[in-house]
Amino acid sequence: MLTRVLSVFEYFSALKLRNQKKNSFRKFFKSIFALLFMKVIRTIVALKNALKPYRLKSHNIGFVPTMGALHEGHLSLVRTSTRQNEVSVVSIFVNPNQFNNTNDLNNYPRDLDKDCRFLEQTGCDFIFAPDVKEMYPEEDFCQFEFGSLGTVMEGKHRPGHFNGVAQIVTKLFDIVNPDKTYFGQKDFQQLAIIRNLVKKYNYKINIVACPIIRESDGLAMSSRNLLLTKGHRAIAPIIYKTLLEGKEQMHKKSPQEIVSYIIESINSTSLLSVEYCQIVDPETLQPVSTINPVKPPIACIAVFAGKIRLIDNVEFIS
Ligand code: AMP
Repeated sequence: MLTRVLSVFEYFSALKLRNQKKNSFRKFFKSIFALLFMKVIRTIVALKNALKPYRLKSHNIGFVPTMGALHEGHLSLVRTSTRQNEVSVVSIFVNPNQFNNTNDLNNYPRDLDKDCRFLEQTGCDFIFAPDVKEMYPEEDFCQFEFGSLGTVMEGKHRPGHFNGVAQIVTKLFDIVNPDKTYFGQKDFQQLAIIRNLVKKYNYKINIVACPIIRESDGLAMSSRNLLLTKGHRAIAPIIYKTLLEGKEQMHKKSPQEIVSYIIESINSTSLLSVEYCQIVDPETLQPVSTINPVKPPIACIAVFAGKIRLIDNVEFIS
């Protein structure tokens, strides 16, 4: 029931298009269609074909790249896309090239059926869920250079990570050719890298940065939260809480003193271990020595909760 064969989908998709003469009808058919048919597309050719009619009609296409194991954080991006565009595509692909740790890749949560059910509520039009062979029919040797943006924080601690991100994102941009693409501020450095990529390669794509969605206890939503033990899950909200405490000190202490406070506080809980914490300029991502209220810096952190690595960030705005 959940995953239907593409040809059936494409037939009804064409039918749907013919039925979209009036805007009010369009919404109606769209919601009925979403409930009846899972719009899962597995191949690049099929996705391009499915998007063709929309492109011919100059409909705006919104695109949300994800690795699945979807949660409200992802859905907030998708909802923003469906509000802002006539057509929305969500990709679900666990990109092996951006993992620098095989265990992390093997253990990454995957549940396409559940993801599809989640997406039904968002009005998303197409779910692109290719397999690895489809995206990487042969080894990808493309090398991307992001200068100092790519060598700090995540770039330093996850060698090759942003190169893998750039490999998959450029492929996806070329396939979907969206007008707008949606990225979460949770991955703040990734957002900076994607902005740089879009500018450097002249993609005519608008990047929409979406706020971090948190659990009620403050923990930033993440697919990796599913992998936390009970004990680690219980203690993990300390990360955000401590970042906020650091922010409260921004008028009294230097960034370096605040960083030391954050690292010591989090490490004092024996279940958590800070990999890095830096207060950085939001554009250059280089550590700041003073806090400029006109250009508020961001405190970025990566923490190990057992074997699970969590990242978060808070803007130091008054
Ligand atoms: P991922 O599936 O982890 O690659 O994430 C796909 C997109 O969702 C990225 O742009 C992330 O930044 C974004 N995202 C992940 N978690 C959250 C969150 N808690 N709030 C907002 N966006 C998020």
